[in-house]
Amino acid sequence: MGSLEIVLLPCLADNYCVLLHEPESGQTAIVDAPHAGTIKTALNARNWRLNHIFVTHHHTDHTAGIPELKGHFGASVTGPEAEADRIPGLTRGVTASTRLDFAGHPIEVIETPGHTLGHVTYHLPQDSVAFTGDTLFSLGCGRIFEGDPQMMWDSLSKIAALPDDTRIYCGHEYTLSNARFATNVEPENEALKARVAEIEALRAAGKPTLPTTIEAEKAANPFLRPQSRRIRARLGLDGAPDWEVFAHLRQLKNKA
Ligand code: ZN
Ligand code: FE
Repeated sequence: MGSLEIVLLPCLADNYCVLLHEPESGQTAIVDAPHAGTIKTALNARNWRLNHIFVTHHHTDHTAGIPELKGHFGASVTGPEAEADRIPGLTRGVTASTRLDFAGHPIEVIETPGHTLGHVTYHLPQDSVAFTGDTLFSLGCGRIFEGDPQMMWDSLSKIAALPDDTRIYCGHEYTLSNARFATNVEPENEALKARVAEIEALRAAGKPTLPTTIEAEKAANPFLRPQSRRIRARLGLDGAPDWEVFAHLRQLKNKA
């Protein structure tokens, strides 16, 4: 079993698709399918044929490319069982108990509801990589469209419990605008200051700010830091449970 080639592909205005390729078997997969044309061009440029599509959740900006890609390549489509009726062409519905792999690399399905009720995160433990869709972003998190704050906090907590060195790929490039909010709620955070300098340089050079890591997000992302005394003091929520601090942060961000 060889190591995976991972390509981060910008699609649409600020979405990402991730290409996975296992060179020995020649197998290729993608995580989310925002735009068929962009993905086809990227695959063709590498002479890769698409075998599998992994979907994090049903929103159109993650699924619109599925019908054309499935039709063209005959790729299988894996996604949350709970959203089977809302994901076009789904061939395999998954839950937390599903055993999955890609070209011999085990994939753990983590149920991360909140943004949508069926949202899943794919974790490849042997490769130290996870695909968090619209649940965890760098320095931010997804909006809670279908779930509630406690549910979203539980989902983020599952992701935060992955090993520190896990590389995190997210569904969108929102890092710079997330950084402004994060800096407002925890301006004293040195790890955040360092990350902001890094992402400003990356964006100025036209590069993605991803992947990030669990370690970097736990140090700088306010949505993974409701235990921070500085954040609690700023919000006036000293004795509150973590999920309530999280809920308050999410509400403030919605208005920002
Ligand atoms: Zn979404
Ligand atoms: Fe999205």
